[in-house]
Amino acid sequence: MREKDSCGYCKIEPIKENTANTCKHCDTRGIKVKSITINSILREEKLNLVENDDNFYFCKNPDCEIVYFNNKKNLYFNKKDVKVRVGLKEKNPPIPVCYCFNITKEQIISELTEKGNSKSIQYVKNMIKMGKCSCEVKNPTGRCCLDTLLNIN
Ligand SMILES: [Zn+2]
Repeated sequence: MREKDSCGYCKIEPIKENTANTCKHCDTRGIKVKSITINSILREEKLNLVENDDNFYFCKNPDCEIVYFNNKKNLYFNKKDVKVRVGLKEKNPPIPVCYCFNITKEQIISELTEKGNSKSIQYVKNMIKMGKCSCEVKNPTGRCCLDTLLNIN
């Protein structure tokens, strides 16, 4: 069955959401991220604060600087603490939308404008079907990017 955050092809296990976790900076409910994701996205100098902690959440608010938070430990990591540009929180290009294959929002918009369809999206779909994506360690949310790609217009 198709889970909300899955494209139906990824082998990522659905993550159980916990509604009690809200970003203290903006009051937006966070989405849970696995330690494997945090360990790969966070800058090295911050990793010692994390250890294999599974109580981290991603703040989805585009206007909030906080990327990951852990209210239990009072830890908040902002955009400067992570190695990638978080597409959701960027307003100027390049805005990454697919982290596994380095695809930007601008690229997809220009394909859609010129041809009416996006070869990049098709490419990502094919790669996902072949199991070649690694959203869990490349996408800062640890989730599949396909829904984001399909919602660009
Ligand atoms: Zn926030």
